[in-house]
Amino acid sequence: MRYVKIRTRHVVVPKDGINNPTIIEEIVDRESTEICAICLAEYKHEQTIGTLRCRHEYHTDCIKQWLMRKKDCPMCRASVFHFT
Ligand SMILES: [Zn+2]
Ligand SMILES: [Zn+2]
Repeated sequence: MRYVKIRTRHVVVPKDGINNPTIIEEIVDRESTEICAICLAEYKHEQTIGTLRCRHEYHTDCIKQWLMRKKDCPMCRASVFHFT
């Protein structure tokens, strides 16, 4: 059984302007070949992945928790906010 790479994409729109990060959420439907840099677990079939503006991907739950404490990408330190 092989999973095809199908993604359902929607953009999380900032609710109060510049102070919220933009995260694109995707439902993963594919073989697990990539890992989340925050929890170091592989993306599983039908998990939700959040993509930041710098195009780095993490589990949506992981990146949302991360962004409650930090304001940049865990991998490249790019700001996830609009004003930079
Ligand atoms: Zn994760
Ligand atoms: Zn990044």
